[in-house]
Amino acid sequence: MTNRIVVLKGDYIGPEIMAAGLKVLRAAAEHFDFDYDLIEEPFGGEAIDKVGEPLPQTTVEAAKNADAVLLSAIGGPKWDNAPKRPEAGLLSIRKQMGLYANIRPTRVTKQLKQYSPIENEIVSGTDFVIVRELTSGIYFGEPRWQKADSAIDTTVYRRNEVQRIARTAFDMAMKRRKHVTVVDKANVLATSKFWRQIVGEIQPEYPDVTVDYMYVDATAMNIVSHPKHFDVILTDNMFGDILSDQAAAITGSLGMIPSMSVGQSGPNLYEPIHGSAPDIAGKHIANPISMINSISMMLRYTFDQFKMADVIDRAVSQTIEDHFITRDLGGDETTEATTKHIIKSINRQE
Ligand code: ATP
Ligand code: MG
Repeated sequence: MTNRIVVLKGDYIGPEIMAAGLKVLRAAAEHFDFDYDLIEEPFGGEAIDKVGEPLPQTTVEAAKNADAVLLSAIGGPKWDNAPKRPEAGLLSIRKQMGLYANIRPTRVTKQLKQYSPIENEIVSGTDFVIVRELTSGIYFGEPRWQKADSAIDTTVYRRNEVQRIARTAFDMAMKRRKHVTVVDKANVLATSKFWRQIVGEIQPEYPDVTVDYMYVDATAMNIVSHPKHFDVILTDNMFGDILSDQAAAITGSLGMIPSMSVGQSGPNLYEPIHGSAPDIAGKHIANPISMINSISMMLRYTFDQFKMADVIDRAVSQTIEDHFITRDLGGDETTEATTKHIIKSINRQE
């Protein structure tokens, strides 16, 4: 069966890192008989230029019918004064694909530890993911208003919303080290106590998974002081928003971090966490590793191609060790040279 991958190549450095990622995918696929079709669709600024809107209906349909969607990064100053903004397309595609969870890995390998602002022994070997609820919680709850002397926001979580995100985290844990840490503020928040109750109900479905609970304030400390404690962090929309950025910072390199968003029934969407970096577009210095890592995540979590993902991950580590790196990591290689080195390392591994 041929796997269908929709490609949204994006704006500014988007097409540069997407091209690099797809070259790596092609090289790895040859070693593993991984069959796939790439379906390229316009999205973001590119789509505004072509058809006057950031998310054409044809792109939505293609994305919904794919097995996975790859996105690089969209938007930038070119569309600052456009009647429609590229970013509107991002909100809309998330909604139309029913993406309810965002998952970001934090990995610090021995090759990477020198880029982290945290001491080597503490951070080296860190490997966890944050599973963040994306569609509910305090960012969406009603009532919300602001008056002269008071303002209100509301956190609402419904049973089915907590159940599905909890299952996502447990499923993730089953493909990893089988450890879920539920992060909340259950000493004060009713919604947190509710999350604990629902997680407790689901836990028996996953007898192999260990669960622990941690307050969000303690988690903020532990992410910088004991990051190796974590495997899968399960948390709500706002806590996940904050902790995801904190976790990104301990790796020391925005240009390496991928993410995946999980769809209710349709495909997952994989993308780097950084933006379209207009300041470095066209200069051949964009770090392609964020996109390559997004592709590795896709192979692992959509297609169950664990070995193929491992080979790509090892090639990336090797390339960093060989100091074939772009400027953001302190090297002076081009996007293309880094990519070539990664492919060479894949071909050497078999
Ligand atoms: P957005 O609002 O779209 O998230 P941003 O203002 O946060 O955008 P980014 O585009 O994420 O900005 O970039 C932040 C900085 O990191 C920029 O200086 C950019 O050049 C750099 N950067 C981002 N991605 C990469 C990459 N893949 N390689 C090298 N540098 C990068
Ligand atoms: Mg940003």
